[in-house]
Amino acid sequence: MVQERINEFAKYIEKKGLKTTQQRNDIIRTFLKSGGHLSVDDLHQKVKKVNPRVGYATVYRTLKLLSESGVAVERHFDDGHTRYEHLEPEEHHDHLICIKCGDIIEFEDKNIESLQEKVAKKHGFRVVTHNLEMYGYCKKCNGNT
Ligand SMILES: [Zn+2]
Ligand SMILES: [Zn+2]
Ligand SMILES: [Zn+2]
Repeated sequence: MVQERINEFAKYIEKKGLKTTQQRNDIIRTFLKSGGHLSVDDLHQKVKKVNPRVGYATVYRTLKLLSESGVAVERHFDDGHTRYEHLEPEEHHDHLICIKCGDIIEFEDKNIESLQEKVAKKHGFRVVTHNLEMYGYCKKCNGNT
């Protein structure tokens, strides 16, 4: 699975006339192995354990390429940090974001999804992609605010 995505990405950067490098591979492998929503800094910390020579800028550029190629999705949550996550081609989910501890909870609800479609249709709108984010307090933080 991981290898499949790596090959897909290798093809993409080849088309762009870029070279696959060991550093880039270490970054991608680490990214694909760690789930969740990672900032450039998060991923940089993880990659450094595998390959200490990888710099922040390389991680940044590789994540940009990964999201251009569709392997990663770039998320801009209201806390100002750009985060990246990887999704399977047909996978979709939305997010609940805790404004106290920063926890991000993923969910998918068929009813919400179809309601959105309905709203769009009413306006003659064809949806290509969407982002649903709800901000508030997670179970842990709720009550001790
Ligand atoms: Zn959704
Ligand atoms: Zn919380
Ligand atoms: Zn997510």
